[in-house]
Amino acid sequence: MAESKRDYYEVLGVGKDADDAALKKAYRQIAKKYHPDMNPGDAEAEKKFKEASEAYAVLSDPEKRRQYDQFGHAAFEGGAGGAGGFGGFDFSGADFSDIFGDIFGDLFGGGGRRGGRSQGPMKGMNVRKSVRITFEEAVFGCEKELDVVLKDSCPKCNGTGAKPGTSPETCPKCGGKGQVVYTQQSFFGTVQNVQTCPQCGGTGKIVREKCSDCQGTGYVSNRKKIAVTVPAGIDNGQSIRIREKGEPGANGGPRGDLLVEVSVSRHPIFQRQDMHIFSTVPISFAQAALGADVKIKTVDGEVLYTVKPGTKTDTKVRLKGKGVPSVRNSQVRGDHYVTLVIQTPERLSAEAKEALKRFDELSGNTLNAAGTGSAGNSGSGKKRKGFMNKMKEAFDE
Ligand SMILES: [Zn+2]
Ligand SMILES: [Zn+2]
Repeated sequence: MAESKRDYYEVLGVGKDADDAALKKAYRQIAKKYHPDMNPGDAEAEKKFKEASEAYAVLSDPEKRRQYDQFGHAAFEGGAGGAGGFGGFDFSGADFSDIFGDIFGDLFGGGGRRGGRSQGPMKGMNVRKSVRITFEEAVFGCEKELDVVLKDSCPKCNGTGAKPGTSPETCPKCGGKGQVVYTQQSFFGTVQNVQTCPQCGGTGKIVREKCSDCQGTGYVSNRKKIAVTVPAGIDNGQSIRIREKGEPGANGGPRGDLLVEVSVSRHPIFQRQDMHIFSTVPISFAQAALGADVKIKTVDGEVLYTVKPGTKTDTKVRLKGKGVPSVRNSQVRGDHYVTLVIQTPERLSAEAKEALKRFDELSGNTLNAAGTGSAGNSGSGKKRKGFMNKMKEAFDE
């Protein structure tokens, strides 16, 4: 606890009033500079990267930012801030990717980063796939199997790309470094530009006789089935990171990751916003007036709800804990909000019409002789605000 933490705004180098775009821009710059993939083995860079990632995770979330602005770091320590305390930051697994997935997509998804390949171990490129799931699968989580074509090191040449019996030669242009340095004189003094070696394409090696199985690339493609555990509470557009199921690394580096973007199908009656579910339930006028037990569909099945006598149309009902689980803690669930809407009957039997007329008379309204249902009252209409007017008001709101 004693360890002092830097202010999140200071970490990102932004003002307290920075908007989302400014935060993202600031974080992106820091992430680019200090990302562990760019600074292998550099503990200081990793620390800076994590610090910035943590700051961004908090400040980019309006709720967490509000808590942080109010309580500072204390908001996320030992659950002091209540509301599902943020706790320790986990930089592995789905947790990480659904916060940062979009940024890493921008940073590394383009495939350009292999340009500066060096002799050191390099992590392979990430592979992106998408999976479509149902509304319920998103709420409760599911297991999916994905067909993914992945590159593997060619077994015939052991990934060298050279015909068996031969071996790749060190590139003469870059001396095996994969990069060439150009020194230029400029207005600012001597500038060094590092570029990918044009002769070997950054591999540092030249293959004279190519392996016939992989045409000298060192890789072969294999179709694989990969099991994906979709966590309960995942939302449309979020990604799941599956470690080391991407493309092979170079020089003994680990494979890249598989990033699975989840798209959630629309549900015919439920809508979702974050952890809450919304739906509309029709009730009859009689149920609304007299009160009734009605069945309400939720993701947990039907729930019996007691409509109070005299319920108005558009009454909102909260079914606590019937919403979506938190993707970080499935014990925490949102709520299901139901709007009760009174249905005006359209097709009535003669008997039902009679009953309704009789009801209207008892309510102090007088329908005109033709029974057209016109809202215009005659006679006693001025004395009391009639049922028809009340109904009309209820629907005009
Ligand atoms: Zn080969
Ligand atoms: Zn070269």
